[in-house]
Amino acid sequence: MSVNFDDLGNAYVGGAWQSTARDFPVENPATGETIARVADLDRAQIDAAIGTAAAALPAWSARSAHERAAVLKRWAAALLAGQEDGARLMTAEQGKPLAEARAEVAFAASFFEWFAEEAKRAYGEVIPSPFPSKRYSTLRQPAGVAAAITPWNFPIAMLARKAAAALAAGCTMVAKPAAETPLCALWLARLADEAQVPAGVFNVVTTSDAPAAGAAFCESGVVRVLSFTGSTAVGKLLFRQSAATVKRLALELGGNAPLLVFDDADLDVAVAGTLAAKFRNAGQTCVSANRVYVQAGIHAAYVERLVEAVRRLRVGDGRDDGVTIGPLITPKAVAKVERLVRDALARGARALIGGAPHPRGACFFEPTVLDDVRAGSALLAEEIFGPVVPVVRFETEAEAVAQANAVDVGLAAYAFTRDLSRAVRLSESLQAGIVAINEGLPSVAVAPFGGIKESGLGREGGRQGLDEYMDTKFVCLGVG
Ligand code: ADP
Repeated sequence: MSVNFDDLGNAYVGGAWQSTARDFPVENPATGETIARVADLDRAQIDAAIGTAAAALPAWSARSAHERAAVLKRWAAALLAGQEDGARLMTAEQGKPLAEARAEVAFAASFFEWFAEEAKRAYGEVIPSPFPSKRYSTLRQPAGVAAAITPWNFPIAMLARKAAAALAAGCTMVAKPAAETPLCALWLARLADEAQVPAGVFNVVTTSDAPAAGAAFCESGVVRVLSFTGSTAVGKLLFRQSAATVKRLALELGGNAPLLVFDDADLDVAVAGTLAAKFRNAGQTCVSANRVYVQAGIHAAYVERLVEAVRRLRVGDGRDDGVTIGPLITPKAVAKVERLVRDALARGARALIGGAPHPRGACFFEPTVLDDVRAGSALLAEEIFGPVVPVVRFETEAEAVAQANAVDVGLAAYAFTRDLSRAVRLSESLQAGIVAINEGLPSVAVAPFGGIKESGLGREGGRQGLDEYMDTKFVCLGVG
């Protein structure tokens, strides 16, 4: 089966497909081929899309939560019905193995399903009054037009997670996908169209000028919420730019997840968990295990088993059967991973497997395990975003926790132990918005996802995900 990308070349604004004089290419990172060209909107066109979302707001927010839920459920059903098409498009555009792309489409659908239900539970409250002549209550209302800026690593799920919550809350949305993966966002828009999401409620503005989109969203007084997933540097810029309009921000920024393996861990579970937390999407996730701390007593057995498992990974084009590690997103990403690995090796780390770009092509890097990575190596300080496991040995729990927490970010943390008391201690002491114990894949629609420290603000998914798009209004009623 092959997907026809040609009709995904236009932006989607006000329920119509919008072309522009200029366009930009979208490449398959596995092959370097241009697979489509998409509309390249300028600032004025992005401003106009914000106006379109604002015009659609009154009618959408006035619909009952049950009506909005019905629309979101149709969107979820369209995703599941189109799972194979969406997965093939994603693999061609982003590179991840087909099995992962299929899972991402299902994951995206789960957010529409979840928030369709949560829309019905946007409860206010009645507050007991200390005064006989006054009654107090709260209402929860949609915040207004929401803007989304999304990354290329989960090109459908990251947008679905934002759009589902925003629309459930009664907001309308303008979304700007990453220039590397606009087709996935446009495919989601096509399904919105099929699911009869009303015109103007969900809009996708494609552009090669990300700063113009960021400025349009931040400077607009109409946009009341900006939800961004991406790098910490861009998140800080958007934070600064949003000050003038005192905009509500949800920021899902970078992580530097520690993964701790204790002597009392189940080795099979720890190795399987490391593979999942590290090698999914070739290590290109913000919750990817970035630093692996292994206790001295289990170190030798763990690295031996890990290297065996890494040797079985298959690098290649994500569309080919059996491939488990696809390309990185760009040759620049490979150069960054190479720089980090070289620096670690120069400082005394040992490559147990891999350690270099992969001959398969310009975007490929070998699955790599480096042992004895020294303190001060850039590999431990920066987000790797590639298939590299840096291993550091430790002696005590206190030492491991101190190292795990000694960074400015805190998105995810992983630990492997069979000691229940230790598991409880770690769930409390690890400084991260998400702690996964004896598990490598914590993300799920029903639970809140987000970081502490410089990893961001706000939560996506879970009961909390709706809050980002709602205002709480306090009503004081005088009773005569
Ligand atoms: P990554 O390193 O993962 O590509 P980025 O933060 O650069 O992370 O990209 C995430 C999203 O932010 C993408 O949609 C990208 O186009 C967008 N982006 C990049 N620079 C800016 C900017 N100056 N203003 C607004 N959005 C931006």
